[in-house]
Amino acid sequence: MTTKEKNYDLVVVGGGPAGLASAISTLQKLKLSVLVIDGKQTNSERIGESCPPETILLLKQLGVETSFYQGGHTPCPGYASVWGRSDVGYNDFIVSPLGHSWCLNRKQFDLMLANRACQQGAEIAWNTRFLGTEPLSNDDEGHVLNLENTHDKSRYKVKARFVVDASGARARFARALGVGKKIDDRLFAVVRFSEIAAGQASKQVQLEATPDGWWYSTLLPAQRLVTMFVSEKEQLSWLQGDKKKGFEAALQSTTFIARHAEQLLLQNDQFYIWPIYSGLLANIEGSDWMAIGDAASSYDPIVAQGIYKGLSDGILSSQTLLAFFTGQSECRASFSENVIKRYQFYKKSRQQLYIQESRWANHSFWQQRLMTSA
Ligand SMILES: Cc1cc2nc3c(=O)[nH]c(=O)nc-3n(C[C@H](O)[C@H](O)[C@H](O)COP(=O)(O)OP(=O)(O)OC[C@H]3O[C@@H](n4cnc5c(N)ncnc54)[C@H](O)[C@@H]3O)c2cc1C
Repeated sequence: MTTKEKNYDLVVVGGGPAGLASAISTLQKLKLSVLVIDGKQTNSERIGESCPPETILLLKQLGVETSFYQGGHTPCPGYASVWGRSDVGYNDFIVSPLGHSWCLNRKQFDLMLANRACQQGAEIAWNTRFLGTEPLSNDDEGHVLNLENTHDKSRYKVKARFVVDASGARARFARALGVGKKIDDRLFAVVRFSEIAAGQASKQVQLEATPDGWWYSTLLPAQRLVTMFVSEKEQLSWLQGDKKKGFEAALQSTTFIARHAEQLLLQNDQFYIWPIYSGLLANIEGSDWMAIGDAASSYDPIVAQGIYKGLSDGILSSQTLLAFFTGQSECRASFSENVIKRYQFYKKSRQQLYIQESRWANHSFWQQRLMTSA
């Protein structure tokens, strides 16, 4: 079916966890025409894999609990971290009523949500980038969205009565409307995905603080390992040279993660650089649009809450959409208030985490994190 020049009740910009959860949850409540667009292909590499135990409750609400258990995601028993001290501390989920956390196969996870959204009746246009909006005549309601097919570069328009911006931290739709995002902190992650050819990787998430940033490593499904360094741009000048050599040299600043990695035979390394923004959108919703997930509020991955937050926002957004499409906008719960409160709580939790590391109090990375958390 062609999507060209079509009218939809709802267009969701972004087919990540937040956008797909919004489409699923809304279609569970209402029969609407829903288009989800995403600039990426279904099988492109995605970042973010650690999920708290409570995630399963949201997946149940979305009707994907069974497919999730069949999806080959790896149970994770807890954290092993070198943070604020030089020995290893352990934080296991043995006392959590919902059990262990999860390490996701992200491609599989997002595909599972996309399949569910399609089953519920959503149309999904991958390789379709949102470019901007066009003003409507005064007596017309909704939004006209300019889209581009990323394969053949053809452009077309769709019209939506309501738009959900789930386009990730850059909040493409909200920003096209002129809404600003207050960025409290900006970091970079250098990420290495490797295949484990030999050796037994720990199932625990490993975290380690170093003078210029922090490291994270975890076993992924299908015997893959992700290792990531989070730092400031100024500390990453080695990226201009040989990335593999630079990464391995930087990894030597760890005492725990490097030792563990040495026991594994890794192959087919792939490197990615991801920007990380901690920030909150100045205006999270209007009369016929709203921002959810990272578009509304984006977090430092140290708190590992991004996927949970995206799913939760997606589910909550369906209440706003229900009120809008049944003509009861006055009953609309304040989604923004929740997002703002949660962001303030996040900032406190993040500060608590960074405060615990005082060994390099005179190093720029740690000084800046405390300043940006305040
Ligand atoms: C390095 C790093 C590590 C992380 N680790 C974790 C972790 O371990 N656990 C965790 O819970 N979270 C983690 N996160 C955060 C997590 O990835 C995000 O919070 C989560 O993916 C947000 O979901 P979302 O649906 O809001 O946005 P996204 O997952 O970012 O999805 C947005 C979608 O919008 C699409 N899009 C963007 N612009 C356009 C456009 N113009 N047109 C069409 N489509 C567009 C994108 O292609 C993307 O698919 C990490 C983040 C980073 C950067």
